[in-house]
Amino acid sequence: MTYPFGAVVGMDDMRLALLLNAVSPAVGGVLVRGEKGTAKSTTVRALAAVLPPVVVVAGCRFACDPAAPDPACPDGPHDPGAPGSTRPARLVELPVGASEDRVVGSLDLERALTEGVKAFEPGLLAAAHRGVLYVDEVNLLHDHLVDLLLDAAALGTAYVEREGVSVRHAARFLLVGTMNPEEGELRPQLLDRFGLTVEVAAPRDPVERAEVVRRRFAHDADPVGFAASWASEESALATRIADARTRLPRVVLSDDALRQVTAVCAAFHVDGLRADLVTARAAIAHAAWCGRDEVTEDDVRVAARLALPHRRRRNPFDAPGLDEETLEQALEDARPDEDPPEGPGDGGAPDDGDPGNSPDPGTGSSAHGSDAETQAQPPVPADDDAGATPPSSAPRGEGGGSTDAAPAPDRAAVPPGDPFRTRRLEVPGVGAGVSGRRSRARGDRGRVVGATRPSGTVTRLHLTGTVLAAAPHQVARGRTGPGLRITRADLRQAVLEGREGNLVLFVVDASGSMGARSRMAAVKGAVLSLLLDAYQRRDKVGLVTFRGVEAELALPPTWSVEAAAARLTALPTGGRTPLAAGLLRAHETLRVERVRDPRRRPLLVVVTDGRATGARGADHLGDSRRAAGLLAAEGTAAVVVDCESGPVRLGLAGALGMALGAQTLRLEELAAESLAATVRSVREAA
Ligand SMILES: [Zn+2]
Repeated sequence: MTYPFGAVVGMDDMRLALLLNAVSPAVGGVLVRGEKGTAKSTTVRALAAVLPPVVVVAGCRFACDPAAPDPACPDGPHDPGAPGSTRPARLVELPVGASEDRVVGSLDLERALTEGVKAFEPGLLAAAHRGVLYVDEVNLLHDHLVDLLLDAAALGTAYVEREGVSVRHAARFLLVGTMNPEEGELRPQLLDRFGLTVEVAAPRDPVERAEVVRRRFAHDADPVGFAASWASEESALATRIADARTRLPRVVLSDDALRQVTAVCAAFHVDGLRADLVTARAAIAHAAWCGRDEVTEDDVRVAARLALPHRRRRNPFDAPGLDEETLEQALEDARPDEDPPEGPGDGGAPDDGDPGNSPDPGTGSSAHGSDAETQAQPPVPADDDAGATPPSSAPRGEGGGSTDAAPAPDRAAVPPGDPFRTRRLEVPGVGAGVSGRRSRARGDRGRVVGATRPSGTVTRLHLTGTVLAAAPHQVARGRTGPGLRITRADLRQAVLEGREGNLVLFVVDASGSMGARSRMAAVKGAVLSLLLDAYQRRDKVGLVTFRGVEAELALPPTWSVEAAAARLTALPTGGRTPLAAGLLRAHETLRVERVRDPRRRPLLVVVTDGRATGARGADHLGDSRRAAGLLAAEGTAAVVVDCESGPVRLGLAGALGMALGAQTLRLEELAAESLAATVRSVREAA
């Protein structure tokens, strides 16, 4: 029993954003950002119950509307007078681990090849047609899938192609994503493609909080009774949505209102025209929602607050939301009955009529936001590495004051040195993890490396393998003319090898033995560089630090490289060197992660000079070697970054590397090879 939409306390922006999209899906979906425990998911799931029911062609798996069936429907063609049946609008949830086939649907290559039949199994996009598609933790979904969703949402069509066989069907849905920004950001290119964004937080007001708890108790004690007590509210909402949908095509966006839209977008320096389109559509939807036939300044204000915050953001450390003063000023400057203070307003068209008059309803009205209009926007290409922004803008370049030989009693945080491009550290062997850019992995993407008998349905046919398997049986199968006789058992699946993302767990020595401030700045700069690299390779990252008497899990494994960079920058240094404790803490962290995310292979990066000190009398070096042996025995892939400096070198990091079964690199060797060195090594190999 879902929680009633009307019973959700607070979350006003979120509820409004959902309702505006329910009125006009052309607004382009909603992204909801907020910490855990803010009832984001409950609110989204509650939406389906207040959406008007849909009439579908009986028996069509693609939810065709009998009034206007999809001409390309794989279950079609439907007769113009095909009988319809009414069912509730659906809310389809897309799990983060879903495969591409599950999302877009799968083509039965076996039937295509052996029977010549184009058989298509609909995916989640088909199921969500004319309803809601919901992705919780959308920031954890692979970029490739997010891109695919946003393409389908923008075009209203799903397209599948396998081995030259293709299927296309209508997929118009309201896309809703929720995420906790603490677990990593969505890339800016993807962020921009959601129509509206809202930030949610738990209510601060004790009265409101009490109401949340009270309703939750009432719901849990008697879900059916609770739903019944809200039924009239729910049906009123459903009616209001249906009415607003009917009204929507009639709503007029006057030239004056459009000028306010463009003025506001210009004032917030948003890129491109997508913001203006979305703001205009949201304003029109809001007018319809409020029962008005014309867009007012208030509609524009509400729309701007929902459509612009994520488009204006430049870096992840900026405060969320819009600056109210700027918004009000922009609205005022573009207000028709007031002269702008200094000349014509920026971004506004020249004033061409009596401002007091009601505007011409024929111009500027794009109320229903047709598909054709949506298609006119070029999809924003998903950017690869260019999307990576440095996660930290911390001040650096200090720390040159003391000499390298001096001890570092300073407990204050040393700012990291400038980041650089690092060489790729990778987990040996071939994994099967979620696709990324670090270690070798067998999966659903990459280059073809072989053929195998399929374990399930064939998704990528290996043609040569299939022909070779079929060839010996041709006589027995009675082949006489041209054309192979192929059976299901002959089909071979292509084995693909690409790259996976990993869990990169940093174990950073922050003790006094790591030397002077300048040395620590270099160490932090190196770890920051590795973090940047991890961001680009789509790794999860974690940070264990050790100094003084203990080791600390400074950051549990997360996708938020920003959080890791912030912890690193603020990390104080000095004191003794409990290396063994650091390694044991890493061991424990990896054990927990193995349970949580078993397919993600870890890479341990130990940043230390290899010294181990602590209370007198204990065998610190021996303890650390034993801890290293524990990790090595479990086959943990590791790299030791040797931070030892100064004239006398003990080579302890190298010995630790041996105990870990790890490669040891000096700090200076961490940078990616220079072009000259690459050319040299290629020449030598030739
Ligand atoms: Zn159909």
